[in-house]
Amino acid sequence: MTGLRRPPWWLAWLVGGAAVAAGWSLLPYGVPAVVCSTLLSFAACTVMVVGARRRHRDQQPAWYIFAAGVVTWVAGDLVYAVQGEGTYPSWADAFYLGAYPLLVIALFLLTRRRGPFWSGNLIDSAIVAISVGIAYWTFVIEPIVVDDSQPALARAVTAGYPTMGVLLCALLVPMLLRRGPRTAGMWLLTVGGVVTLTCNTVYTLLPAAMYSWGSFVYGGYLLAYVCWAAAAIHPSPTLLPAEEGDSLGWSRLLALLASMLMVPAILLVQGERGTGATSWLAVGIGSMALFVLVVTRMSGYIARAHSQARRLHDLAMRDDLTGLPNRRAFEEEAIKGVATGPCRLIMVDLAGFKHVNDRLGRAAGDQALAAVATLLRASLREGDAVARMGADEFAVLALDTRAGEGDAVVTRLMDLLRRPIVSGEHELLLNARLGVADSLECGAVPVSELVRRADTARYAAKAAGSQLMVYTAELDARSDATAQLGADLRHSLDDGDFRVVYQPIVDLDTGRFRACEALVRWHHPVRGMVSPVDFVPVAEDNGLIVELGEFVMRTSCWKFAAWRHELGRHAPSYISVNVSARQLSEPGFPEVVAGIIAECGMEPAELLVEVTETALFGGGTAVHAVETLHETGVRIALDDFGTGHSSLGLLRTVPVDVLKVDKSFVDEITAGGGRAVIVDALIHVSKGLGLRAVAEGVETEEQANYLRELGYEYAQGYLFGKPVPEPSFRDSGGAGPDDQLGGQLDPGGLQPLTVDQA
Ligand code: C2E
Ligand code: CA
Ligand code: CA
Repeated sequence: MTGLRRPPWWLAWLVGGAAVAAGWSLLPYGVPAVVCSTLLSFAACTVMVVGARRRHRDQQPAWYIFAAGVVTWVAGDLVYAVQGEGTYPSWADAFYLGAYPLLVIALFLLTRRRGPFWSGNLIDSAIVAISVGIAYWTFVIEPIVVDDSQPALARAVTAGYPTMGVLLCALLVPMLLRRGPRTAGMWLLTVGGVVTLTCNTVYTLLPAAMYSWGSFVYGGYLLAYVCWAAAAIHPSPTLLPAEEGDSLGWSRLLALLASMLMVPAILLVQGERGTGATSWLAVGIGSMALFVLVVTRMSGYIARAHSQARRLHDLAMRDDLTGLPNRRAFEEEAIKGVATGPCRLIMVDLAGFKHVNDRLGRAAGDQALAAVATLLRASLREGDAVARMGADEFAVLALDTRAGEGDAVVTRLMDLLRRPIVSGEHELLLNARLGVADSLECGAVPVSELVRRADTARYAAKAAGSQLMVYTAELDARSDATAQLGADLRHSLDDGDFRVVYQPIVDLDTGRFRACEALVRWHHPVRGMVSPVDFVPVAEDNGLIVELGEFVMRTSCWKFAAWRHELGRHAPSYISVNVSARQLSEPGFPEVVAGIIAECGMEPAELLVEVTETALFGGGTAVHAVETLHETGVRIALDDFGTGHSSLGLLRTVPVDVLKVDKSFVDEITAGGGRAVIVDALIHVSKGLGLRAVAEGVETEEQANYLRELGYEYAQGYLFGKPVPEPSFRDSGGAGPDDQLGGQLDPGGLQPLTVDQA
C-alpha cells in the first residue's frame, strides 16, 4: 500500500486544468497558444460528455448543450485565429454570440429548482434581467445602438456582448442568492458562471483594460470550462429538489429591493448628468414589467404565508393520530354549542386502553384509538362535537335540541362502547367510562367548568366501577374527600398508622387452622378505622399502594416467621398476602418479594400471593410478574374468583395454585338457585385443574356444611375467625410443619375463635 491516496478525478482535472489556463494567460498570442487553448477546450468538452454519461444520466441533454456551447466558442477562437484582427464584426463574433445562449440555457437547466412558478428562479431571473437590462440599455447598449458612425451590423454585434452579460447576470444572481446547502457540483457551476460574467463585463465595459489584461480575460473563459467540466465529473448532484418553505430569504429580498430601486437610480443619474437622452420607452416598459413581476413574487409569498398559517392552526387544533379536534379546538367549539341551547358534555375514558398498549403494543393501541374516533364521529349528529382530550380520553358535546335527545346520545354511546372495538385482527373490550355533565343542570357555567364536571363524573364512574355517572354536586364533595384521603395516606404511611391483621383459613373437615390471610388496617388519626375497601383503590390510584403493599408483605412475612419460630408445628403452613395490580406492574416487584422471603428465612412456597382476575386480565407486566414469582416457588391465588372477567382461559395461561371463591357465591349457596350451581361447578373446575379451592366469607354452619358436601376442603370466614392482629393457633391444634398446600390433613373439630379486633 502506498501512503498517499490518488486524488479524485474531478480534483485532478480541476487543478491540472486551472494550471493550464493560468499558464495560457502568460503565453504570447500565437500558434502554440491557440493550439493549447483548443486542446484544453476540447478536453473540457470530452470530460463533460463522459461525466454526463457516467454521473449525471438524468441530465445528459443539458450537459450536451453545455458541451455544444463550448465547442461553438472554440469555433469562434479558431475563426479568429485564422481571420486575424482586421475585420469587425467577423464570423468569430457570430460564434461567440451564438455560444452564450447555449451556455446560459445549459446552466439554467442544470441548476434550476423545481417548484411553483412564482417561487421559482424564473421570476427572480426576469426581475434581475429587467433591472440590470435597463441599466445596461441606458448606459451601454443604447449609446452603441444610436451611434451612427458605425455600420449597423457592427453596432448590433457590439451591443450583443453586453446583452449576453445581462442574460448571465439574470441567471447568476438568483443562483448566488439561493438559500440552503450547496453541493460541490453547484459551486463549480456557479464559479464558472461568475468567472464568465466577470470576463464579459471587463470585455464590454473596460475596453481599455483589454490591451494589457486581455490574455487573462481569455484565460478566464478557459478556467470557466475547466470548472464546468469538473462539475460534470463530480459525483454530487447539481440539481436539488425544491426546498420546503420560504425561498424568499433576506438576501433575495434585498436583491429585489435593489432591482426595484435601479430605475429611479438611473433616472437620478441621467437627470444629474443632464444628458436627457433617457429612453423613456425602455425605462417605462421595463419598470412596469418590474412592478408586475415583483408583485407576482410577493403575492406568491403571501399565498404561501397564508397556507402555512392555516396549516399551523390546523396542527395546533387537531390531534394527529385520530384527526379529531384537540382539547383547545373542542373548548372553542363547545362555547358555540353551549350558546345555542341545552346540551350534554360527555367525557369518555377508555379504562382498558393501557392494557391494550401493554399487551399488543403501541401500534395496536393507536389503531384502537383511531377506531374509537371513527366510531364516535359516526355516532354524532349535525352540530355535535367530538374531540380527543388526552391519551385515552375523548369528549363529546351533544346538543339537546329536543327533550330526551341528549339522553339518547348518551345511551347510544354507552351501547357502542360496550361492544368490542375491532382494531386490525383484534377485537378489544376497552371498558369505557362515561362522565356526563348537563349544561341545563349546571346552569350558567363556563365551558371549562362543564368539562371539569364531566371529568369529575367520569372519575366517579371509574372509582365506582360503573360505565356511566352523571355529575352532581355531591360528586365534587366525594372527590374532594378522595383527594383528602390520598393526602392522609401519605402522612399515615410516614407515621406508621397501618397495621396488619390475620384471618384464619381452616380445613373444613377438621376445623383446624391451615393458614391465614393478611389484611391491612388503617387507624386514621381523625376518622378512626378506615376500611381497605375505601382506601386501597385510592392508594392504587395515587401509587402509594406500592409502598403500602411492601409494608404489608414485609410485616406479614416477619409475622409468619415469628409464628414458625414460636409455635413450631402449631404454626400456620402458609401466609396469604393480597397484591394489587399496580404492585404487579411495578418493575422489580418479584425481586422485592424474593428479598423479603430471604430476609425472613422462609420458604417461597410458604407465601401465597393473592391477585384478582382483573389485575391479570390486562396481561403484560402483571402476568409476567406472576410468572416470575411462580418460578421462584411462590404460590399464586386468584382472589374473588367468579366476580371479574371470569375467563377460564386465564387458568390456562397464568400459573395458579389456589382459587378463592368469592363471598357472594357462598352467601347464596344455601338459598339455592344459579349461584349455588356455580359454586358446585367451581369445585369441579379447580379439582379438574389440580387447584385448591378456598371458599371465602363463610358465616354460618349451614354454609360450611354445604361446602363440605360439595367437596370444598378449605374455607375462610367469620364463622372460623375474624381478622385479628394475633390469632391464636394453638386452640385449633395447628397445621403441622409439613402440611403445606395440598398436604396431609389432621383430624380435629371446629373451634370457635377470637373476636375481631379490626
Ligand atoms: P379480600 O381479599 O376479598 O379480603 C376478604 C375480605 O372479606 C376482608 O375484608 C375480610 O375481612 C372480609 N371477610 C372475611 N370473612 C368474612 C365474613 O365471613 N363475612 C364478611 N362479611 N366479610 C368477611 P377487608 O379486610 O375489609 O378487605 C377488603 C378488601 O381489601 C380485600 O378483599 C382486599 O381486596 C383488600 N385488601 C385488604 N388488605 C389488603 C392488602 O394488604 N393489600 C391489598 N392490595 N389489598 C388489600
Ligand atoms: Ca384476598
Ligand atoms: Ca376475596
